[in-house]
Amino acid sequence: MSEEARIPIAGVIGQPITHSKSPLLHAHWLKTLGLPGHYIPMRVERNDLKSVLQTLPKAGFVGVNVTIPHKEYVLELADLVTDRAALIGAANTLIFRKDDKIHADNTDGYGFIENLRHGAPGWNPVAGPAAVFGAGGAARAVVASLLEVGVREIRISNRTRSRADALRADFGSRLVVYDWVQAGNMLEGAATVVNTTSLGMVGKPAFRVPLDGLSPGTVVTDLVYAPLITPFLETAAQMGCITVDGLGMLLHQATPGFERWFGKRPPVDEAARRAVLDS
Ligand code: NAP
Repeated sequence: MSEEARIPIAGVIGQPITHSKSPLLHAHWLKTLGLPGHYIPMRVERNDLKSVLQTLPKAGFVGVNVTIPHKEYVLELADLVTDRAALIGAANTLIFRKDDKIHADNTDGYGFIENLRHGAPGWNPVAGPAAVFGAGGAARAVVASLLEVGVREIRISNRTRSRADALRADFGSRLVVYDWVQAGNMLEGAATVVNTTSLGMVGKPAFRVPLDGLSPGTVVTDLVYAPLITPFLETAAQMGCITVDGLGMLLHQATPGFERWFGKRPPVDEAARRAVLDS
């Protein structure tokens, strides 16, 4: 088969992988845009990751998404790493280039910001401090992107304080660390509030930080999207905040990879949301 006639194949690599929504989303976009291509979930062990990444391009793969627990390790295996992926310390999107080089990027922060811009069109990142709950992998992408769009002060609090301190060491003095027992204090005067912990997710403990410091008009978002409207978002909405669910971040972070692999920017619309939600 000639190079031109090859049907592009992409996929998502993780362990476990059955929970991933990415195959549903990409299949929906391929179908509705009428594009040839396949997107496949692949369960890969860490020890096999290097050889798998070397083999996939030979089998017609144009790239992959990478999810837990390989997002950090793939940086070591990539030939080219974008500045933002290096800063975050993790990649979620790999492009297999024609010169056999693997290009690694992190689109989580892009997805996060796009979701806020679409979900809260009046959002002004410089209107006041941002408050971020959690300091795990997703928080690193959120913090990097908030700094990039000009947020002047990011308050951050994590159950394990050392992880929040590590973020401050990596990202600088615009970050202010709060003890987890005083996390509610971050909300005073905050213009943007983000939950990046897994609290409130189906099967996980509830989010119990008091939210009475929230002000009406504050833009509040939760990275958790199962359930779609978390109790955290519900409380914020009751207090007059502008709330944005986490599903849009998942959809927006997928668009750069899809465009690179299949040649067209896919729409983030209600049909895409339904493709993921109705599964
Ligand atoms: P992670 O690296 O494992 O971090 C988990 C975070 O949750 C840490 O800050 C952790 O605190 C905190 N946490 C967990 N259990 C806790 C508890 N009982 N009490 C207080 N804090 C607790 O995971 P991640 O990759 O950052 O993902 C975090 C969440 O974001 C997940 O729910 C994930 O599904 C979601 N997410 C959504 C998107 C999207 O597109 N919407 C993208 C990425 C992630 P410690 O450090 O103290 O353990």
